[in-house]
Amino acid sequence: MERTDIKSLPLDSLTEWILKNGEKKFRAAQLYQWMHQKLADSPDAMSNIPAALRKKIREECVFTVLKQEACQVSALDGTRKYLFRLADGQMVESVLMRYKHGNSVCISSQAGCRMGCRFCASTLDGLVRNLTPAEMLEQIYRISADTGERVSNVVVMGTGEPLDNYENLLVFLCMLTDEHGLHISQRNVTVSTCGIVPKIRMLAGEKLQITLAISLHAPNQEKRERLMPVAKAYGIHELVDACAYYFEETGRRITIEYSLVAGVNDSGQDAAELAGLIGRLHCHVNLIPVNPIKERDYRQPERQAVYAFQKKLENHGIVSTVRREMGRDIDGACGQLRKRYADK
Ligand code: SAH
Repeated sequence: MERTDIKSLPLDSLTEWILKNGEKKFRAAQLYQWMHQKLADSPDAMSNIPAALRKKIREECVFTVLKQEACQVSALDGTRKYLFRLADGQMVESVLMRYKHGNSVCISSQAGCRMGCRFCASTLDGLVRNLTPAEMLEQIYRISADTGERVSNVVVMGTGEPLDNYENLLVFLCMLTDEHGLHISQRNVTVSTCGIVPKIRMLAGEKLQITLAISLHAPNQEKRERLMPVAKAYGIHELVDACAYYFEETGRRITIEYSLVAGVNDSGQDAAELAGLIGRLHCHVNLIPVNPIKERDYRQPERQAVYAFQKKLENHGIVSTVRREMGRDIDGACGQLRKRYADK
C-alpha cells in the first residue's frame, strides 16, 4: 500500500483523509495546525491527538521532516546556508537571508536540475527527482524552528526549476500562503524560472499574486542559447511575450534576472539590446554579477562595467538594481554547497 504523504495534503484533502479513516472532522484542523503552524517534527509531538491516530500516522503515512546536515553562517551578513537530508538520502540546500524588512528564505524545488544553464552549479549532475510539497515547506519550517524567527518572504530560487515541478509547486504555494499554515502573503513569494513558456502561461491562469522572476541573462536569442539550453526549446521573443501575458493576467510586475558575465553579456551594446527587447514589459531588472564556479571559467565584470551597464539601461528608461551579494564567504552560488558535499 502506498503511504499517504500527510504533510503534502492541503487542509481539504487532509480532511478527506481524516473522514475516510473514521475520525472526527475537527481532527484535520488540529493535525494541520501541528504540522503547518507549530511545525511538529514528529507525530509524537502532537499532544492533543489521540495515541491511536498518531500510531496510524506513524504506520501508514509519510511524515516528512528534513534533517539538518550542515549550516554555514556568514560572518559578513548573518546569512545562513543550510544543507538538509531528505528521507531517501538526497541533499537539498536552502538559504536564510536577513534584511531590514524581514527574513527571506530561498528554497530548492528539485534535487538537482535538468536545465543545463552553463554558469550554474546545481545542474552539473543533472536531475535526481522532484521535491514534494512537504519537502519544500519543510525547508522553511526547519529554518524557522532552528532560528526561532519568523520568515516573511520566500523565494523559490534554490536548486531546481520550479516550473519543471509544476503540480507540486502549486500545492506548495497554496499551503505556504494558507491562513491555516504560515500564512505568508502571496505578494511576499517569488518564483524564479529559466523560461518554460507554456508553464508561465499556465501559471498566469492561476491568478496568483506572487512575483514571477525570469532568468533572462542575455539580450538576444543567440547569446541566450549559448548560456541556457532551454532557449533552444523556447525562443527569447516567445518568452518576452509570455511575460507580457503574465502581467496582463495578474497585474504583477515581472522581475528580470540578468547575471553579468565579463566579456559575454556585459557590453554597452548588450545593455542597449536588452533595453530594446524588454522595453515594453512592466518589469524590474536585477543585475547579478555572476558567481564564478570552479567547473567553468566565467568571470564577474569589474564594478565599473556593472554600473555602466545599469546606467545604459536607465538611459533607455529601464529601472534596475544591482543585487547585493549575501553570504559571499559561504558558497553563495546556487548549488555549490550541495555539489561540494556530493563530490566528497
Ligand atoms: N531554475 C530557476 C531557479 C533556480 S536558479 C531559474 O533558472 O530561475 C536561481 C537564479 O540563480 C537564476 O536566475 C539562475 O540563473 C541564477 N544563477 C545560477 N547560478 C548562478 C551563478 N553561478 N551566478 C549567478 N547567478 C546564478
